[in-house]
Amino acid sequence: MSIDPHAKAVTESATPVSPPSPTQVSMQATTPVSVRIRERIKLAKIRYHANDNIAKFIEPGELNELLAEVEGKLKGVLESLVIDTESDHNTQDTGRRVAKMYLNELFKGRYLPMPEVTEFPNASHLNELMIIGPITVRSSCSHHLCPIIGKVWIGVMPNEHSNLIGLSKYARIADWIMSRPQIQEEAVVQLADALQEKMQPDGLAVVMEADHFCMHWRGVKDMDAKMINSVMHGSFLKDPNLRREFLSLIKKS
Ligand SMILES: [Zn+2]
Repeated sequence: MSIDPHAKAVTESATPVSPPSPTQVSMQATTPVSVRIRERIKLAKIRYHANDNIAKFIEPGELNELLAEVEGKLKGVLESLVIDTESDHNTQDTGRRVAKMYLNELFKGRYLPMPEVTEFPNASHLNELMIIGPITVRSSCSHHLCPIIGKVWIGVMPNEHSNLIGLSKYARIADWIMSRPQIQEEAVVQLADALQEKMQPDGLAVVMEADHFCMHWRGVKDMDAKMINSVMHGSFLKDPNLRREFLSLIKKS
C-alpha cells in the first residue's frame, strides 16, 4: 500500500499547538515591514497610492527596517538586470544608496508627517491678493519615476478669519507634497487642499509649470515641452478679475 502524501500534512496541521511554536513566532518576526504597514492601512480602509502620505501607519524604528527591505529588493532588480554587484565596485552599494535616496529624499513626503507650520491670526485683517512664488519644486513621475522639476506660484485671498503662515512654510508644504511619486495634475490639487485646510482663505490658486524628464530623457525626447496647470478655489474661481490679476502678475515673475 502506498503512503498518502497528504496524510502527514493533515496530521500536522490538525494538531492543536498552543502557545505558538518557535517556528510560528519566528515567522511573525520575519514578516516584511512593508506587509505590516500595509495591513494597518488596509484595516483603516485608507488609500495608499504613490502620492498618498502614510506616515501615521509607520511605527518608530520601522523606517530603518523599510530601508533595509527596499535595499534588498533594489539589489534584486540589479541582479535581474544582470549586473555583477559583487565585483563591480560602482554598483556594490547602489541598492542601499537608491533605497536611502527614495525613502529619505525623493519620496519622503509619503513617509514623514506634514512639516510643522505655525498659523498666525490675520490680525491686520489683510484682504488683498498675496502671491508667493516662484517656488522651485522637485518631484518624480508616478509612471516612470523620472524627475519632474519646475516652479509653483501660489495666490492667496485672505479674509479676516483666515490664518496666515510664514513665507518659508509654503515652500516646506510644497516640498512635502512633491516629494512623492506624483502626477502633476494631482500634485497641484493636493497642494491647494493642504493650504486651504491650514489657512481657510476666501480664495486660493496654485499654478505649476514643470519639465518632465520622462519626455526629455526617453520616449519622445522632446527637450522643450513643459506642462502647465492650475487649480483655483473660492474667489479665484468666482471672480474673473482676481484670476486675471493673479495670472498677469505671475507672468512677470
Ligand atoms: Zn513619466
